[in-house]
Amino acid sequence: MQIDPGADILGLVDVQPTFMPGGELPVAGGDAIIPIINNLLTRFDHAFATQDWHPAGHASFASAHPNKQPYDTIGMPYGPQILWPDHAIAGTPNAAIHPSIDQHRIEAIIRKGFHAALDSYSAFFENDRKTPTGLEGWLRQRGFSRLFLCGLATDFCVAWSAEDAARLGFAVTIIEDACRGIGLPEPNGRTTIDTARERLVAMGVAFVNSQDF
Ligand SMILES: [Zn+2]
Repeated sequence: MQIDPGADILGLVDVQPTFMPGGELPVAGGDAIIPIINNLLTRFDHAFATQDWHPAGHASFASAHPNKQPYDTIGMPYGPQILWPDHAIAGTPNAAIHPSIDQHRIEAIIRKGFHAALDSYSAFFENDRKTPTGLEGWLRQRGFSRLFLCGLATDFCVAWSAEDAARLGFAVTIIEDACRGIGLPEPNGRTTIDTARERLVAMGVAFVNSQDF
């Protein structure tokens, strides 16, 4: 797969210790993607990153709701919301981009989830699917049209970012071995990773591996 330096950009989604083993909301194998991403960062001329960035007591935390447990789902004004363990607290070391990530080609960092009453999975919109993060404007003004996404977690922040990007008209590719998923159970023995992949393929999102470049 050929990289077009004028049009292509690598997007690192939430590559933060909070989502890795030892963090508050660990994704299995989440730290295994660091060397893969560092290798990708040597091939792309341009990259951006997102950071999940919550105030203490954020509405997506189970601890903020009486009698609720992590992974319960509640109704929010903007729709159903899965509740999570407290994670990605703004300004804490575990909310930083992982210190082993080589940041020298990361030209923009978008923080999301800082509105106390509104969660944000996607790099483009908060979970009401309306409040923009500003990333779309930045990408368009810089002339990028093809997004290559990696990071955590495949079935939530990466998937929602890919879906919004496709909806906005960007060509989207997910670099699968540079992602790890949470995999909550879904009906019929499937997981949120299976259903997210299916939804994205139907929208025209491509899936590749890092060796394909
Ligand atoms: Zn979060």
